[in-house]
Amino acid sequence: MKTVGHWIGGKYVDGESGRTGPVTNPATGERTAEVALASAADVDLAVAAAAEAARVWGRSSLSARTRVLFAYRELLDRRRDEIARLITAEHGKVHADALGEVARGIEVVEFACGIPQLLKSAGSYEVSTGVDVRELRQPLGVVAGITPFNFPAMVPLWMFPMAIACGNAFILKPSEKDPSAALRVAELMAEAGLPPGVLNVLNGDRVAVQRLLQHPDVDAISFVGSTPVAQAIYQAGTTPGKRVQALGGAKNHMLVLPDADLDLAADSAVSAAYGSAGERCMAVSVLVAVGGIGDELVDKIAERARGLRIGPGDQDTSEMGPLITAAHRDKVAAYTPSAREQGAEVVLDGTAEPVGPDAAHFLGVSLLDEVTPEMDAYRDEIFGPVLSVVRTDTYADAMTLINSSPWGNGAAIFTADGAAARRFEREVEAGMVGINVPIPVPVAYHSFGGWKGSLFGDHHIYGSDSVHFYTRGKVVTSRWTAPRGSGLDLAFPSGSTS
Ligand code: NAD
Repeated sequence: MKTVGHWIGGKYVDGESGRTGPVTNPATGERTAEVALASAADVDLAVAAAAEAARVWGRSSLSARTRVLFAYRELLDRRRDEIARLITAEHGKVHADALGEVARGIEVVEFACGIPQLLKSAGSYEVSTGVDVRELRQPLGVVAGITPFNFPAMVPLWMFPMAIACGNAFILKPSEKDPSAALRVAELMAEAGLPPGVLNVLNGDRVAVQRLLQHPDVDAISFVGSTPVAQAIYQAGTTPGKRVQALGGAKNHMLVLPDADLDLAADSAVSAAYGSAGERCMAVSVLVAVGGIGDELVDKIAERARGLRIGPGDQDTSEMGPLITAAHRDKVAAYTPSAREQGAEVVLDGTAEPVGPDAAHFLGVSLLDEVTPEMDAYRDEIFGPVLSVVRTDTYADAMTLINSSPWGNGAAIFTADGAAARRFEREVEAGMVGINVPIPVPVAYHSFGGWKGSLFGDHHIYGSDSVHFYTRGKVVTSRWTAPRGSGLDLAFPSGSTS
């Protein structure tokens, strides 16, 4: 059986812990690999490699960094299909969805290629006679990124291209459930010319994370995962003074007003609720139907959802793949009977018939109507193919419901009324808002992040916020009393290569 090891200092390393975890193909239930689970000593090795590399990389020229990033972008572009297949094999999502994930990751690399422009600083000339002020942004040093299972390539790509473009060394700790895609995208950075140690992949579980949080040479942590872990990491990391951004879970609401195009709303709800088997932090998990449109909208959603083709992600006919583990499938499945017991109307019951072979992690789609805020299906982040419909009489009732949520990642409104949409974007307590768009994941040049329990920390991820997160500001006030010669050089000036 293959063991997925670590990538430290530009080399494959098995690690010294002797501990491993299973990697499974969710579409068959078959164990396909073991993943090494790092010990504290393995973490120390990765941090030492990163700290050494950061000293040199942090002083590299912008042209040296962009040369690597442009080459990396080309390599990723050529390997889209291969990376998508790795994602499907360990995560289970369908190939087209995996390709979409890779594409959104490549967008961040393209943004990072513009780092010379992004790091340009402000300054003031002659603030006093002969005195100038300039602002600098300098790298932090060593940054660790801890990522979730649901976007095994994209979320790492949300982090390390920008961290490295800003001059940091990076240690990626991917999800232990599907580590191979992350390892592959990291290897390609080496192929693009990144010096050893600037990017390291450390596989592992909470043991590795605990040591990264304690290690004095780790300057910053970027975390994406569930809310309880995000909150704990934010507290543990910031107490000793590390910079931490910790993106957490979600329960995203889609509000539909009576004037909306109900066919568009139904298409959007089905795509956003059941795409990737509901394992997206920007999935729509609650639809709020306002003012008497509930019956028609639920019928339209049920009609579309009934026809979804569930199957292995590597088959072209499949529209929805399996869930990540058998345990997660069973946890998700339990919400449908519990919703029924608590008074919801189960319009579609994804648990009624088994899908696929016993050992595989497939689950059918569930549609729950007449859900109320007290029900478990409403309160919990289910992270599976379950859509809850809540009916309200008014827009005001819908907004009270949405803004009472402990999460605030994404929220969407479907309407034909511009004024209503404008009011919604102002009033809704969420970091990312869709107007007739169900999954409003910002493009790479706008930052991604939620409010409330969906983000702990001040900075959103990627986009211009990431330049601030991965650098420290410095303001230089200078006075020169006499010019200093620098010698003659008649060559055409160009960026340094070191
Ligand atoms: P998770 O919190 O279980 O794991 C995320 C990472 O943390 C993994 O690398 C894991 O090894 C590590 N980890 C898990 N438990 C830990 C612990 N007790 N101590 C230290 N480290 C620990 O999340 P997941 O199940 O992999 O991913 C799904 C979750 O991630 C969902 O809640 C989803 O909403 C969220 N998510 C959020 C975003 C976002 O941008 N806000 C994006 C993707 C996923």
